[in-house]
Amino acid sequence: MGAPSNSGGKNALLRGLPSIEQLLRRPSLEPLLAGVPRARAVAALRLAVDRVRARLLQGDERAFEDSDVRDALTSLATPNLRPVLNATGVVLHTNLGRAPLAPEAVARVVSIARGYSNLEYDLDEGERGSRYAPVIGLLRTLTGAEDALVVNNCAGAALLVLAALASGRECIVSRGELVEIGGGFRVPDVMRQSGAKLVEVGTTNRTRRADYASAVGPDTGLLVKVHRSNFALVGFTEEVDVAELAALGRERGVPVFQDLGSGALVPLEGEGLTQEPTVARSVAAGADVIAFSGDKLLGGPQAGIVVGRAELIARVRAHPLTRALRVDKMTVAALEATLELYRDGRPHAVPTYRLLAQRPEELRARALRLQGLLAERGVSARVEGVVGQVGGGAMPLARLPSFACILNLETPETFLDCLRGGDVPVIGRITDGEGVLDVRCLAEEELNAVADAVAAARPGNPP
Ligand SMILES: *Cc1c(COP(=O)(O)O)cnc(C)c1O
Repeated sequence: MGAPSNSGGKNALLRGLPSIEQLLRRPSLEPLLAGVPRARAVAALRLAVDRVRARLLQGDERAFEDSDVRDALTSLATPNLRPVLNATGVVLHTNLGRAPLAPEAVARVVSIARGYSNLEYDLDEGERGSRYAPVIGLLRTLTGAEDALVVNNCAGAALLVLAALASGRECIVSRGELVEIGGGFRVPDVMRQSGAKLVEVGTTNRTRRADYASAVGPDTGLLVKVHRSNFALVGFTEEVDVAELAALGRERGVPVFQDLGSGALVPLEGEGLTQEPTVARSVAAGADVIAFSGDKLLGGPQAGIVVGRAELIARVRAHPLTRALRVDKMTVAALEATLELYRDGRPHAVPTYRLLAQRPEELRARALRLQGLLAERGVSARVEGVVGQVGGGAMPLARLPSFACILNLETPETFLDCLRGGDVPVIGRITDGEGVLDVRCLAEEELNAVADAVAAARPGNPP
């Protein structure tokens, strides 16, 4: 129980909080506020007063100080969404923005975003055009599909395809593929949302062609195949591959939709990577419609790409949800530039592809360089081989051999908190109770900043 005098002191401090008008006239704040636009100064003063009030209410009885205004000005000058350095070793980290874009894609976004563009304007005809037009040709070339469409993300693409092609009808899916992708995206829920009726076949571990065949009836709208993405089925298992399912679909006159998720456009290189099916392989195997993400293994902007048979894509495009899920010009710009890199045979120019393809020797050399930079700042670390992940719900069994600097810390959790809270946030990870900085996703030119951040966050150092 707090003593009455304490709470009396608190109330007095709360009553004594300065007004914004008083602070604007306070001579000691003049140097801090000189040159700051008035609206921003007022916002900073409000933030500072609010913070002191919250502090007092929590029992911290430090009165209002000019340094509170300095801190508030710093907060306002720092965007909420800002770059971080990824020392987790996870290449497609959904929390960290998934795929970093190629410089070519960034440049294209800048050139399109800053002005007007022919986003929906056909320059030859001088009339309204389609916003997908810039990427349809590239997607056809790269996947072998007849036609293509782009929406906001792959979850949206799956919802749209199901709604357009199977609403009010039956969708047949294997029980081994009723996956939860993450962030609450569950295949059975999406089906329900789309208005399609889910028909589950097979068992968790085994589904055969006969299971699908006996479920097909007059109400069947789609045969659906879902990439397991983030989990693996091992042991006594059996599944129907997309070619076999497509053959069944053709025989019975039912289209096959494959939700491919990660959607690699070309085979990946890199140790520890299992062979991920490419989109082109699914098209060649006979899938009628395929959905995949723009910002997973493709390494482009967030997008949901739908490719497939022209007549089915036309039906999908005509559905009202297409408008609700449409992409922005910045997405089209980044996607076109990224797809061009694949068309030109330059997958190494796509950061995701390159980050996955790095050789262990390269990674070891980079970890040693980081170790050296840390040592220059008085921080000792050992370099060790570690295991990283692809991330983004792709290739859960892939064990990417990587290298890391492992720090000698008493309280790694506290240290990682400090590292995250620095001017340039660095995101590390804890493995077996130790603080690990995996160098796979760190660029050579970022190592100095990482070393500075570690030195600043070291326990005992001022923040
Ligand atoms: C990741 C994934 C999705 C969701 O993709 P987003 O682009 O994140 O919306 C859907 N289906 C599968 C199979 C996936 O792997």
